[in-house]
Amino acid sequence: MLEQLNFLIELQQIDKTLQHILLTIEENPRKIKQIDQETQQVQSTFEAFVREMEETKKQRKILEGEVEDFDQRIKKSQVKLMEVKTNKEYKAMLTEIDELKKAKSGKEDRLLELLEKVEEGAGKEKTLKNNLEDKVSEGKLQKDQLEKEGQEHEKQLSELNRKRIELSSRMDSALLRQYEFLKDRLKGLAVAGVKDAACLGCHMHIPPQLFNELHRRDRIITCPSCLRILYLVGPSGNKED
Ligand SMILES: [Zn+2]
Repeated sequence: MLEQLNFLIELQQIDKTLQHILLTIEENPRKIKQIDQETQQVQSTFEAFVREMEETKKQRKILEGEVEDFDQRIKKSQVKLMEVKTNKEYKAMLTEIDELKKAKSGKEDRLLELLEKVEEGAGKEKTLKNNLEDKVSEGKLQKDQLEKEGQEHEKQLSELNRKRIELSSRMDSALLRQYEFLKDRLKGLAVAGVKDAACLGCHMHIPPQLFNELHRRDRIITCPSCLRILYLVGPSGNKED
């Protein structure tokens, strides 16, 4: 019976590891999605900035055209100024030229702001582009790592499954069925240690009679409270703590 009990403990350990690996594998699509989303975010920031810069450059071109236009109009007005006949016309012309110059100056101020923005933007665009390139290669590394881990996990899974089949073949079939039945109902913990005369599965006390029987190891003992198959933990037990 002792050998069968040790098989059970080993089987439960294998199942626990299998379960853990399966959960890790299940997490992979979510992790990959998160990596892609993070990269996408950095890319969107970069693209939005590039669009903003293009818009600024477009406005700059328009403004440059407008300043040019004002220059032409001012020149024309200055030519006209030479041809006016009356003092009144002369004054009106001067006022017009003055207004044109003011308007041109306003456009030039705005143009200067845009030129500064374009200049500063070039540096920022480069930084954002570097960020994006870093993020893309970082994401690729992370995904490669996940892929590698995934392959490793698949290997471990088949190795554990092979061990499980081998172990099961050496086990008493009724005991195996009992184990499977309990495992499905008790959150994977079908075999529980007993320490200080208490079941480590449900923490209830084991009656002295049963506790004595447990030490004899001549039959499978189950916990009266949770029905788990019991084994002794500690120096005299089946397994160390
Ligand atoms: Zn119990």
